[in-house]
Amino acid sequence: MTSALAALERLQTIPGLTVRPGALLRDYTRFRLGGPCQALLVTKDEAAYRAALDILTGSGLTWTTIGGGTNLIVSDAGYPGLVLQYAAAELAVDGTRVRVDAGADLNALVDFANANGLAGLESMAGIPGWVGAAIYGNAGAYGQSIAERIEWVRFVRCNDVHQFSRAECEFRYRESIFKRNKDWQILSAGLELEPGDQAALQARSAEIRATRDAKFPPTMQCAGSIFKNLLLRELAPEVAAQVPANVIREGKIPAGWFLEQVGAKGMAVGAIRVADYHANLVYNAGGGSAADLVALLDELKRQVRERFGLVIEEEVQFLS
Ligand SMILES: Cc1cc2nc3c(=O)[nH]c(=O)nc-3n(C[C@H](O)[C@H](O)[C@H](O)COP(=O)(O)OP(=O)(O)OC[C@H]3O[C@@H](n4cnc5c(N)ncnc54)[C@H](O)[C@@H]3O)c2cc1C
Repeated sequence: MTSALAALERLQTIPGLTVRPGALLRDYTRFRLGGPCQALLVTKDEAAYRAALDILTGSGLTWTTIGGGTNLIVSDAGYPGLVLQYAAAELAVDGTRVRVDAGADLNALVDFANANGLAGLESMAGIPGWVGAAIYGNAGAYGQSIAERIEWVRFVRCNDVHQFSRAECEFRYRESIFKRNKDWQILSAGLELEPGDQAALQARSAEIRATRDAKFPPTMQCAGSIFKNLLLRELAPEVAAQVPANVIREGKIPAGWFLEQVGAKGMAVGAIRVADYHANLVYNAGGGSAADLVALLDELKRQVRERFGLVIEEEVQFLS
């Protein structure tokens, strides 16, 4: 028996680990795109998750991790390996500190903080997905990002558990050290928040959720903004000079502004479309393919590059 086959058999014996052979990944992503994986491994139990990682590391098997699947494009052929989903979701509070598992829904974390009168996450209400991926990609919105509140992150690297401070996580705009080390698996995190008024925090979150729901209807098959916004300080002066001042927010220029200039709104390849009201919102109108999505993104990047000499980068993550 090959070592990969033996590893697969051992995975099936881990108590608390659900193994779904041939799971269709489109059922686990908001874009509703993508073919099958070899098997999906799901657990809420840290011991089971670590036992699976112990077996996978050095097994010769190809594997990756997903969270809620809201920022993923899976290829039509699927993923030729195993996909892990760590769904532990406990939340605990101690004074102004919150401890959260990687599989908790980010919205549950925001609601928990608000309900405990803790400020610092309320503007992130409505960002879909789980906490592990929010840390991985330093999710944020309306002037707040998760990095600002992180005190520590616990993760598995080469079968050992490590803990990093916020500084060690090397957070940047939509970046962290975890994004550059895709085999490091986030288990849990500690956040430090500030005392706030429960009702005011809840009202702020409700207001933001209403705005977001109008922009990204909850049933829309998409990944939110598909390209990263651009940092003004990183733009060539001749490009920056073309951007109207009222478009710049917190030192960033929305990728949507550049896309709008090249006429992206309403563009389509097959059933994959750019929203006609938002140039950085690409969605699957139903029955679309990942190949069409990639073709549309390539075309948008080509047009922005030709017009502005600028490379725009996807925020969304690819699995193929
Ligand atoms: C309608 C809509 C609006 C959005 N608005 C915003 C927004 O305002 N701001 C924003 O920042 N994002 C936004 N997003 C993007 C998305 O919500 C975030 O990127 C979110 O953090 C992804 O979480 P997820 O659990 O779905 O991750 P997934 O899509 O499942 O995975 C994303 C990446 O995280 C990695 N990952 C997942 N779990 C772990 C773990 N435990 N350890 C290590 N790596 C892990 C995966 O390998 C993958 O590469 C939006 C998406 C949608 C659909």
